[in-house]
Amino acid sequence: MNHFLAEPKALRFAMRKAAARVIDSCRYVLDRECEKFEQRWCQTCGSRFGIGTGNGLDALEIALRALRIGPGDEVITTSMTAFATVLAILRAGAIPVLADIEPGTAVLAPESVQRCLTSRTRAVLLVHLYGRLARMDFWRDWCSSHNIALIEDCAQAHLACWQGSRAGSFGVISAFSFYPTKNLGALGDAGMIVTSDPELARRAAMLRNYGSEQRGQHPEAGVNSRLDEIQAAILLERLPWLEDFTRRRRAVASAYGQGIRNPQVQLPPQPEEESAHVHHLYVICCDSRLALAEHLRRHGIESAMHYPLPIHFQRPCADLPRDPQGLVYAEQHASSCLSLPCHPQMNQMEIARVIDTVNDFAR
Ligand SMILES: *Cc1c(COP(=O)(O)O)cnc(C)c1O
Repeated sequence: MNHFLAEPKALRFAMRKAAARVIDSCRYVLDRECEKFEQRWCQTCGSRFGIGTGNGLDALEIALRALRIGPGDEVITTSMTAFATVLAILRAGAIPVLADIEPGTAVLAPESVQRCLTSRTRAVLLVHLYGRLARMDFWRDWCSSHNIALIEDCAQAHLACWQGSRAGSFGVISAFSFYPTKNLGALGDAGMIVTSDPELARRAAMLRNYGSEQRGQHPEAGVNSRLDEIQAAILLERLPWLEDFTRRRRAVASAYGQGIRNPQVQLPPQPEEESAHVHHLYVICCDSRLALAEHLRRHGIESAMHYPLPIHFQRPCADLPRDPQGLVYAEQHASSCLSLPCHPQMNQMEIARVIDTVNDFAR
């Protein structure tokens, strides 16, 4: 599903040099590399502040806590997402309320969110699933008209763009993950909060560092979730490659969209504008997906499931409040989705082999 060793030699070399630079600097946590990367990344997203964290889960939890969302508060999100999205709400002490998805795109369905709204709703945590931005103007208007916060989970959506604005710039506060397999990934765990609100930025920076602003003073019980200098230095080297890597992901997705023709396979819908999708994952639906996965495996092609179970089928989430009409589309999607290889290092031959092998599949 990924092929890091096939990355450009110049990039591999630059990463080794960056790591050596930090080792020789003898400064390892929250220093120049982190500050520089925070600056670059928030600028890239079109936000004023970036606050580096240890990972994407922490970035989400800290974002919620910066907004003072906690016990008794409800946060509406999708049941078709990475477990971390919902775990962050639980860790902040708030109550996740699970809404359903749209059948085609698998992103949050507005009518379902509407049904989840209560007097305790404080925020919508919007996940740009698989790298797709959708209806950002709607979500922004809807949240502000109901006086609730829009929070973006951008872990899969680096550089995704809606009418000229990037993922991370729509919410009052947004969270990124730089886990190695994300579109922009470190060589270990890393994450970031971005916001244009100075007070939220101040609180997030305090919460990631034990709840401390001044050495020795802890006005809040925060967490330890700081971005290492080595990971920040690596991310600074990888950032200049991101646009090109995103173009290559789009080329893979476009080839799949044109080449895959199999009545048993449903392709993901085209994005409303090309730049609104960064194809973190290319996810098809197939009723006999296990047989298809096995067929691919026999031909030397990896596949994966994102995600085999909706959140409400996970044990710690079995009793969470949800759309009173149920989560039918999330359940359908979880039982039929299959992720095909889609990464920047794929060559024409590999892409063609995936297409031919999927087209050869018959029950
Ligand atoms: C990866 C991911 C996260 C969590 O990020 P980590 O850095 O792994 O903690 C959260 N939400 C989504 C949608 C993700 O894909």
